[in-house]
Amino acid sequence: MHNLSEETIRCSFCGRPAQDVISMVAGPDVYICDRCVEDAVHIIESERQQLQKAPPKPLVRLAPKELKQRLDEFVIGQDRAKKAMSVAVYNHYKRVEDESFMADFHDVEIEKSNMILIGPTGTGKTLLARTLARVLDVPFSISDATSLTEAGYVGDDVETVLYHLLQAADFNVERAERGIVFIDEIDKISRKSDSVSITRDVSGEGVQQALLKIIEGTIAGVPPKGGRKHPEQALININTRNILFICGGAFEGLDEIVAKRLTTRTYGFGNGKSVKYDKKDPGIFAHVEPDDLMKYGLIPELIGRVPVITSLDGLSDLALRRILTEPKNALVKQYQKLFAMDGVHLVFEDKALDAIVQKARKLGTGARGLRSVMEGMMTEIMFDIPSRTHLRTCRITREAVMEGTSPIMEERIQRAVG
Ligand code: ADP
Repeated sequence: MHNLSEETIRCSFCGRPAQDVISMVAGPDVYICDRCVEDAVHIIESERQQLQKAPPKPLVRLAPKELKQRLDEFVIGQDRAKKAMSVAVYNHYKRVEDESFMADFHDVEIEKSNMILIGPTGTGKTLLARTLARVLDVPFSISDATSLTEAGYVGDDVETVLYHLLQAADFNVERAERGIVFIDEIDKISRKSDSVSITRDVSGEGVQQALLKIIEGTIAGVPPKGGRKHPEQALININTRNILFICGGAFEGLDEIVAKRLTTRTYGFGNGKSVKYDKKDPGIFAHVEPDDLMKYGLIPELIGRVPVITSLDGLSDLALRRILTEPKNALVKQYQKLFAMDGVHLVFEDKALDAIVQKARKLGTGARGLRSVMEGMMTEIMFDIPSRTHLRTCRITREAVMEGTSPIMEERIQRAVG
């Protein structure tokens, strides 16, 4: 603030002298009066609103094969899930883009292609959903089912899920209405038992009911600042009809339900025989059917609204190794770039990569373990490297990974002095 008694001071925008205004804000050699500040705020506000009203960009329409190819750039393996998702997404956005052009089919309503991804932790469920959104250039948000509660209980209302999406869309409602929402840990809100109704986890079922509404398509009122709804608060209305919901979960114990169903009984004369299906079969989740999810504790209405069920496999050592080096933003590539910025060539020996995989596997968190192993090891090295001026190559060996010994450092050849 400036001393208003000084006569010479005028607003640099409207020219009013200081004594004619309530307050004057000073910058280096410029002044702005309270009226001009107010005007500027109005201008910015209306431009912001215009921006939010701008029609969303046309959707990127890729054929399923092209979509899968784009997913391949970031996600290793998981072909079954990638194919199922590519087809589902292709159909979903076909439905969003044009619902009326085929007069012959005007009374046929194409269902939304919401999905459930089943698979162990750290196998790429979130990554797949995120990559899809990135390829399609639509807003994407992640919410955790376990943080949601029924209205009236402590926790977040299900509308928070939409608030997250709205945030990801920079509050452009139209864009948000074509976005992708990933709901993680959907298995954790299952009711505890299908048969024993006394032990039902009522709140889990309540959350499923609440989620069902937004997943199947409704106009939901979302508090503009997130959090709980207040009676006197104006809400932002979002139509969830075209929002694609992808639910993910590890579904521990579902393998047993599937194996039990797949175990066949043959009845002959005398005693019946049963051919036991091995629940340890790594491909068991490929056989999951809606009934199995119902037995697991998802309500039938919800399963009905999430018609695409697909699964991800546990990652083999080879897959983990490929994840380290192959995707567009593979960890090894990221570290190599960081080192290159210091003029250092970073090399991982083959056996070092194997060792990283071994260590990560012990953590039991799928590919997520790769990052923690790498970070643990590289922090020490990166602490040291920038201070070494003549370093040319840093070679990570198996011993550096397993025993924490120093990597092999090769220095640049120096010109002899004198
Ligand atoms: P979750 O299945 O638990 O959702 P994420 O998708 O969050 O697992 O995976 C965690 C991290 O592990 C990802 O950010 C990615 O770096 C890596 N990752 C997991 N699976 C794959 C995969 N199939 N291909 C490439 N990277 C993967």
